[in-house]
Amino acid sequence: MRLGVDVGGTKIAVVLLDASGGERLRHRIEYPSREYAAALDALARQILAAEKEAGERCSVGIGMPGLIDSQTGLVENAYNTPYNNKPLKRDLEQKLGKELRFANDANCFALSEAVDGAGRGARVVFGAILGTGVGGGIVVGGRMLEGRNGIAGEWGHTPLPWMTGDEHPGPRCNCGRLGCIEQFLSGPAKNRERDAIGEDAAMARYEDRLARAFSMIINVLDPDVIAVGGGLSKHERLYANVPPLLKKYVYCKNPTTPIVRARHGDASGVRGAAMLWP
Ligand SMILES: [Zn+2]
Repeated sequence: MRLGVDVGGTKIAVVLLDASGGERLRHRIEYPSREYAAALDALARQILAAEKEAGERCSVGIGMPGLIDSQTGLVENAYNTPYNNKPLKRDLEQKLGKELRFANDANCFALSEAVDGAGRGARVVFGAILGTGVGGGIVVGGRMLEGRNGIAGEWGHTPLPWMTGDEHPGPRCNCGRLGCIEQFLSGPAKNRERDAIGEDAAMARYEDRLARAFSMIINVLDPDVIAVGGGLSKHERLYANVPPLLKKYVYCKNPTTPIVRARHGDASGVRGAAMLWP
């Protein structure tokens, strides 16, 4: 059986998938401590406990924010986890005595939606996460595209396309740059706008910005489907209002790219992590 682990900012989630992709168990714990050694222990204990429950040794895939630098082996860009800048893969493999596969959590989300979710059957899937942050992943022919630098799909940290005079240069982002898409399309960004101009006006503005950001993805990648996850994916109006707006921005007359809500919701990340092993 395959074990998937989703390492987040506040919790660790575990899922066990059987050979047919069915869920055999699901756990979720808060970190007992933010200190690295204790958080590493907690992660190892969760995996061992799930294997015990499964009654067998399992393949283990781990999804988390950021990436593991292929040169140094250190976790990078996972600011809100206890594992940032630490050799998590090496240390956890040592503790568990086996090889583990790691991937960015948005890539795991895209993989899960491509394999048996909203993007099932599509050749090129772009998975977009609109939540506390804005992340993304690309799956081609059922395989996750990681990229030379491990950052394929990180659209959230590119500038909002076709900025208006009012939007330019945009707010300062956590990454240090100005005007990143994340600063316009994350949950906190949307809530700031709502508090300023009201829910309806904020959503209309949000939809136009999302259409611009997706149009850039379509111009570069032209995916067969865009699957949307994260807290904001629950707004059904996005799926009705954003597709007609693509025409204003995409470099062809009649873009037909389907924009659909993720099928597995919050569980997509942890399911995709389990799928890191065939
Ligand atoms: Zn940024």
